[in-house]
Amino acid sequence: SWLDLKKLCNEIVEEIQRSTSSKHKIVFTSKGKFNLCYIDETLLQHILINLLSNAIKYSPEEGMIYFELEGQDEEVMFKITDSGIGIPVEDQKLLFTSFHRARNVRKIQGTGLGLSIVKKMVELHGGQISFESQVGVGTTFTVSLPLTMNNE
Ligand code: ATP
Ligand code: MG
Repeated sequence: SWLDLKKLCNEIVEEIQRSTSSKHKIVFTSKGKFNLCYIDETLLQHILINLLSNAIKYSPEEGMIYFELEGQDEEVMFKITDSGIGIPVEDQKLLFTSFHRARNVRKIQGTGLGLSIVKKMVELHGGQISFESQVGVGTTFTVSLPLTMNNE
């Protein structure tokens, strides 16, 4: 459906802040141009909630989480940056594989399914997902989605 992306992102942030017991602060900013965007709302919610939940789960409460939305001519980019534990280089190439969890998260609960599902959803939408990460510094996930999708 046609979405007001800024509004949707703000609602997602509010909902996450309300529903988690953590004290993490999520800072949302947006730049670029936005009209209404034709994107599947449920799919987008699922993608963003997964990435924001990971950012919360894998970073200390005092660490800020930056959530950026950038509208371009034909695509929209979502960037989620945390200053958490980071992803060891050895685990990076397997990160989107179902059930793969990095060696530095063994003490934190999880099934290792979230990201593999997110990647499938992004690709279903004709988009791309990537990340940059450094152990002990933090992680940025970037999702780009085309603004209109041809889905024959
Ligand atoms: P769940 O299926 O409950 O989401 P999970 O969080 O372990 O479990 P994924 O979301 O698929 O699984 O993430 C896979 C792995 O990627 C994680 O186990 C963790 O090692 C790493 N990871 C994902 N996001 C981050 C992040 N923001 N910072 C550090 N490591 C991350
Ligand atoms: Mg997860």
